[in-house]
Amino acid sequence: MKITDLFVKASKNVPVDEQATNAKLLIQAGYVHKEMAGVYAYLPLGLMVIENIKQIVRDEMNKIGSNELIMTSLQRKELWERTNRWSDQEVDVWFKSHLKNGTEVGFGWSHEEPITDMMRNYVSSYRDLPQYVYQFQTKLRNELRAKSGIMRGREFVMKDLYSYSLTDKDHDKFYQETIDAYNRIFDRVGLASSTHFTYASGGAFTQFSHEFQTECEAGEDIIHLDRKSKVAINDEILSDAMIKGLKINASNLEKIKTAEVGNIFSFGSKKSEQLGLYYTDGKGAKKPVILGSYGIGITRLMGVIVEKFADGKGLIWPESIAPFRVYLATIGDDKDVHHSAKKLYEFLQKEGVAVLYDDRDLRAGEKFATCDMLGIPYRLVVSEKTIKNKKFEFKKRSNIEVEFVNQNDLENLLAIKS
Ligand code: ATP
Ligand code: MG
Repeated sequence: MKITDLFVKASKNVPVDEQATNAKLLIQAGYVHKEMAGVYAYLPLGLMVIENIKQIVRDEMNKIGSNELIMTSLQRKELWERTNRWSDQEVDVWFKSHLKNGTEVGFGWSHEEPITDMMRNYVSSYRDLPQYVYQFQTKLRNELRAKSGIMRGREFVMKDLYSYSLTDKDHDKFYQETIDAYNRIFDRVGLASSTHFTYASGGAFTQFSHEFQTECEAGEDIIHLDRKSKVAINDEILSDAMIKGLKINASNLEKIKTAEVGNIFSFGSKKSEQLGLYYTDGKGAKKPVILGSYGIGITRLMGVIVEKFADGKGLIWPESIAPFRVYLATIGDDKDVHHSAKKLYEFLQKEGVAVLYDDRDLRAGEKFATCDMLGIPYRLVVSEKTIKNKKFEFKKRSNIEVEFVNQNDLENLLAIKS
């Protein structure tokens, strides 16, 4: 894509009413538009990043045998009353409204209740199980505070997966498969070493739920991590965890600021009993279905990645989720320079490399500043000098030094097989 065809331009203006680094940078670079506190629109570049993250998550969800669907945003009060989660005392983030006829409705902040109720239409026998379904959905939550930019939105994209299993044993197996899938996801977005599987509050008979917590100064959580044995405990349950007999050596625990990027939860059969989701087993006995729920905050993840990798010049995206892999610019107004750059642009496009071509008539410094702010992993420059030497100027966003590479080197660096 040519940068002149791209909506929207990066700007040097730092938004005054924004406190969070992630939102400041994303707004400046033209990825995100702030509608109001905690409510952000995703502009083309921002949407590309979201879609790239979603594609990785989708790939891993499909690998564990789950099916994508999409539930509704408007939800029935009666379902949430049955599980005692309609009242604002129980759930303090509800947005609610009512239909013209007065019927109260809720805006989806989570989907266990409607999805479980929906399953009643499709599950009646043991032959109908297991079922694993997931969605990407914009959740609406009336969060009290929204000071963390896109890391805590009142409107945000979540991936939520729900598992319906026959037995506790089947459930545990899938629960572990999901943990493995989550680890692969966080690895693929560049957060493997900084994301920790963490014991947290809640969960039916397991006594705990589990969170995926990423080390991040801008995060709102605190965990206690034993790096050696790879056990982490959310600060909220540290004393509980000791009581419940988790094997932890207090002297090895490191206290770390983190952001919760994922949360997985076993509900046991409680919710199915409350909502009436039963199956008949091989002997004709009626049994409640075992439910698990597994979230990943897609837009929070994007914010965490911004916070962790950005530098003084702007964003830095891991290659796996960057909106473009290569930024291509020319220096000078020479005809040959433009011709050579155009050829390279067309070559990269042909090879399926996502390339952003800066065809603006600006000084090199200004173009490079844009490239840095956008956070594109590789910068390629064509100039009179590079043409004379039959090379291209190549730089990684995270490096300071430039390299001069020939066509062959470039193809290797970008893993182009031609
Ligand atoms: P938190 O404790 O941060 O409020 P939560 O326990 O309410 O999170 P869940 O209901 O488990 O979160 O939601 C699943 C995932 O969605 C979380 O792990 C997090 O990554 C993300 N998430 C939750 N609330 C928000 C929000 N307001 N904005 C952005 N992402 C969110
Ligand atoms: Mg919350």
